[in-house]
Amino acid sequence: MNALERVRTWLTARRRFEFVATVATVIALTAITGALVLIPKSALPKARPEAAVAQYSAPASSLDPQVGEVRRIMESFGPVVTQHVSGEEGQLSVVFGHPYQRGDVDTLAREIGPAVDTVTGLWGADWPRAAVVAVASSTAEFAALTHATGPVSTEVAAASVSDSFLPGSRPTGQRVVFAADAGRRLGAEGLRDTLRHELTHIAARAETADGSPQWVLEGFAEYCAHRDEQLSLNQLAPTLTARAHSGDLPADLPADPAFTPTATNNAALAYEQAWSANAFIATQYGEPTLVALYHDLATGPQTPATVDTALRRTLDLDHATFLARWRDWLRAHVP
Ligand SMILES: [Zn+2]
Repeated sequence: MNALERVRTWLTARRRFEFVATVATVIALTAITGALVLIPKSALPKARPEAAVAQYSAPASSLDPQVGEVRRIMESFGPVVTQHVSGEEGQLSVVFGHPYQRGDVDTLAREIGPAVDTVTGLWGADWPRAAVVAVASSTAEFAALTHATGPVSTEVAAASVSDSFLPGSRPTGQRVVFAADAGRRLGAEGLRDTLRHELTHIAARAETADGSPQWVLEGFAEYCAHRDEQLSLNQLAPTLTARAHSGDLPADLPADPAFTPTATNNAALAYEQAWSANAFIATQYGEPTLVALYHDLATGPQTPATVDTALRRTLDLDHATFLARWRDWLRAHVP
């Protein structure tokens, strides 16, 4: 039973970068999960987080316990190929796919080490620093691997899932699942960026409460995915840049509904705005400040007042001043 799926979708291709938007959706949030997240941290049994921390700090000598389950699911859809990747401290990652997807499996296996380093460089080392990655061969297999209970959109490129977990404990069963045609539609660069994006969600999952603002969760993951790249605002946020060119700058941070692609909703713009707000904070105030703000705001649903408080605490700016500075930064980076 998974608590939440964070889903990365692809939208239309722009220039040489196929802009990949990400959508966090609750696909299989069950009633019991909803109840569990309401349990105050102080009421939790002490043994769970301690046991999980011990597991993380010890050198990993065996694969994630979910690996057998992933293999069983995938073998029911056809022959399976795997690539194992060892981390510097013995962490073991594994990439699953089917024989015809060997190229994507090899690409992802090659990218795991750099992706773990990129995420750790931002988030710190307090996460497993390894990944279970699966490339599905069909939407049915994607659904099985992500525990999806409803139909899976063909616009979904990848998702990260975890088992339900109590706040304060370590999530188990975390994996990244790629759609069958992710490699063909995204290319090697897109697979790399998507892996980094999803691993950011996995690293932060234990500290991320459901219902937190999407501009925080998705913007942070998108910032991390691109933090090692020397790309311009125009390359990473073409829609935002085009609008800024004509003087149309964001009036506010994007609200959660803006991240859902619909016929009338430009979700790509919301992702670009979220990325740019996070990039603005990281470049102007430093990455540790961005991480501190994430910890402040990924605690669940926020109100304008609580966002204002968090911005004052971490950036020493009220909400209105933050927006003004963000817009100034965007203006300065429009070519
Ligand atoms: Zn995401």
